[in-house]
Amino acid sequence: MITLKEALTLSKAELQIFKDDLKTQIEANPELNAYIDVNSAGDGVPIAIKDNIQVKDWSVTSGSNILQGYIAPYNATVINKLTNAGLSAFGRVNMDEFAMGSTTESSFYGKTLNPINAEYVPGGSSGGSAAAVGAGLAIAALGSDTGGSIRQPAAFCGIVGMKPTYGRVSRYGLGAYASSLDQIGPMTQNVEDAAILYDIISGSCEKDSTNAQRDEKVVPSLNAERKLTIAILPKYLESASQDVKDAYAKAIEALKSQGHTIVEHEMLDAKFDISAYYITATAEATTNLARYDGIRYGNRVDGKNLEETFIKTRSEGFGDEVKRRIMLGNFVLSSGYYEAYYVKAQKTRHIIKDAYAKIFEEVDLILSPIAPGVAPKFGELSKPMDMYLSDIYSISVNLAGLPALSLPIMKNADGMPVGLQLIAPAFDEQTLFDGSLSLEREIGYKV
Ligand code: GLN
Repeated sequence: MITLKEALTLSKAELQIFKDDLKTQIEANPELNAYIDVNSAGDGVPIAIKDNIQVKDWSVTSGSNILQGYIAPYNATVINKLTNAGLSAFGRVNMDEFAMGSTTESSFYGKTLNPINAEYVPGGSSGGSAAAVGAGLAIAALGSDTGGSIRQPAAFCGIVGMKPTYGRVSRYGLGAYASSLDQIGPMTQNVEDAAILYDIISGSCEKDSTNAQRDEKVVPSLNAERKLTIAILPKYLESASQDVKDAYAKAIEALKSQGHTIVEHEMLDAKFDISAYYITATAEATTNLARYDGIRYGNRVDGKNLEETFIKTRSEGFGDEVKRRIMLGNFVLSSGYYEAYYVKAQKTRHIIKDAYAKIFEEVDLILSPIAPGVAPKFGELSKPMDMYLSDIYSISVNLAGLPALSLPIMKNADGMPVGLQLIAPAFDEQTLFDGSLSLEREIGYKV
């Protein structure tokens, strides 16, 4: 597959031939189930779009039954930014329903397979984006990351996934899961492409009140020669598999040979992250999903009265995982439990943020696992609690609002990719990309 950088040099005629060919290949490989549909009509370099990002006049459903038939009335800001830069939305890719999940098994459209080995999950919730790029069926894709949903599937499919600082990329037109955590970001074949796509989609947006309204770009100053100080977290690695530990050791050696300084630090026990995240995310999700009641949004299933209509609509429209989270979110927000759970989670969130800030007083970047192991096989994470625990290494980054990039480091004995992430201080994407590029140079870009 050509890179995004190369694709940006193609003529319109060349691009059209490329896109028609890509469409044929996608249709010839339906079992992967990465794409929900393909639309090769637009001008520009084709980018696969997660099904929770609005493209005007396209269906957009967040992988849910409740939104079947809903047509986007306007473009998300990121789509306008793509178009202005000579790129175009090419197709919708699969995801866990309302971005809740770590395996892309909870989609209304059925599961997506891992392109490296179909017995394994592609990760989630942006599993369609990762599988499309990993399979060579997309040049690049957009995903969204609330608690790891860009970085973790990227690691499981052997590609690069980047979550920007909270507020860097407009959320206007993104189907909300947890508004204080969600960010759209690039999923690409290599670090340089991630920087190119990040520059295109990031920046100010007057329609998003949480947007930081900052427009600085990374590509013009991209510099893999910078010597950085990078924190490693030996204790934090205790819950990781041997594959991840091996990748960690390999990445440390690679960073050293690139001339970076490695220093040991300690991070809070990651068990606090799980509690703080699942309380915060479900509380916000409950609020965001209240609009799908069959009156304001969502396919209505009529009942005898209004209350029954709400109940029937939501019972039939939402899948099990979404219902579980709506119940959990209502519970932690209910009077009597609000102080004990929600308020405590917000305090924990501050402690996590402070723990990162303290490390960043001394270092430029942190090297961390992104998941406890390689992609699990289908069915391995069927218990909700096991799935939530598998997010142990990804979610603190969202709670702290930081930028992070996951990239492939090696393959394990079964040929499955192992990725790790670099984490940077808020709004220091420049250092994140510089350090990632240097690590990728040492490791090699197809591992
Ligand atoms: N797996 C996490 C969850 O289910 C993260 C999902 C995401 O980042 N959208 O909430």
